[in-house]
Amino acid sequence: MGSMRRSERALRVLCRTTLKGLDLDLPLDVFQLCERYGERRGRPVTPIAHPLPTGVPNGIWLAAADADYFFYQANTSPLHRDQIIIHEFGHLIAGHQMLGELSVEGLAALSQESSDAALRRTCYSDDREWEAEMLASMILAWAEEASTGVGATARHDELRGLQRLLGGHRGWL
Ligand SMILES: [Zn+2]
Repeated sequence: MGSMRRSERALRVLCRTTLKGLDLDLPLDVFQLCERYGERRGRPVTPIAHPLPTGVPNGIWLAAADADYFFYQANTSPLHRDQIIIHEFGHLIAGHQMLGELSVEGLAALSQESSDAALRRTCYSDDREWEAEMLASMILAWAEEASTGVGATARHDELRGLQRLLGGHRGWL
């Protein structure tokens, strides 16, 4: 079996098409990112703080019937929280199906015990983790470049190209 990993170029295209037209404010607000992306595709993306046990991932994406939920570690810093959410967002836009569908009622009733059981199943392949991490870092790097306005240096040709392709996307330029 060969690698199922997408190329960096393919991920960059995915990142660009995902962010294009969302008209996000800067600096990046991951909750706004989830909200706008969910609005555009007509299926909400809702991050929810949850006290996750140690030894399991800090975030988990649950695909319910009519919405996606990102459970993220409640007891952490805002920076880490943002990293967790954007990592799960990477899994989402990459189409990494994991847990299957849960009903909203099932989610509401999610006990610590059942969530622990669910979390034990969240072992993505290394390829999928790599893709999610690449997407997360691309989104964060892009937001930082757009926020600080340093896209004019030669080192950032790639990002400038990305920004150009976002023509009309005011918040990012
Ligand atoms: Zn992951």
